[in-house]
Amino acid sequence: MNQALRAAARRAIGFMPEPDGLLLYEAGVQAGVLGPLLEIGGYCGQSAIYLGAAARQAGTVLFSVDHHRGSEEHQPGQEYHDHRLFDAATGQMDSLATFRRTIAAAGLEDAVVAIVGRSRLVADHWRTPLGLVLIDGGHSEEAAQADYQGWTKRVLPGGFLAIHDVFEAPAEGGEAPFHVYRRALASGEFREERAHASLRLLRRVL
Ligand code: SAH
Ligand code: MG
Repeated sequence: MNQALRAAARRAIGFMPEPDGLLLYEAGVQAGVLGPLLEIGGYCGQSAIYLGAAARQAGTVLFSVDHHRGSEEHQPGQEYHDHRLFDAATGQMDSLATFRRTIAAAGLEDAVVAIVGRSRLVADHWRTPLGLVLIDGGHSEEAAQADYQGWTKRVLPGGFLAIHDVFEAPAEGGEAPFHVYRRALASGEFREERAHASLRLLRRVL
């Protein structure tokens, strides 16, 4: 991944550490020859730079799904609240404008398509097979399981399912992404390919 894009990703607001992002980039370059890439959890565009760069490299696009209203932990008074993303006019979180600025600044508007809506709603209407799906959205059990249910079936044979914020110990974070990771392995449809920090990269084998 070129230095300008890496620098843009480092400048972006977000929760995607660079080593995790570079692993996603590598996976995305491989997966992009199979089909488009899709992430759940666009937030302010940090992970979208890594996957958008990969999509462009592979000649495809990244779809970035987010309602842009923040997860539980982003709401006012919660641990990961960022006051810059609070829209006083509506009294809600709104990360969409920041997402757009991030992608524009990185020069990736032709490779990254924002889809604004609830993950489950979008998934219910989605039919396009995908080269890679990144689950990095809501961390409640309900949200994470719905993401698995709604999106995993779209991953093409040989394609990747990436799961972020997988922590085995409850104290380190929510356990829902870990449960989704276990579910994917238990299905027999995915094999673990790479892992770094809280990122798990699985490949569809069935
Ligand atoms: N990938 C981002 C971090 C994502 S944070 C990065 O690189 O920094 C999680 C995001 O998931 C939040 O922006 C939140 O709005 C979104 N989200 C949570 N639940 C969702 C749902 N059910 N549908 C769509 N987006 C959701
Ligand atoms: Mg994350």
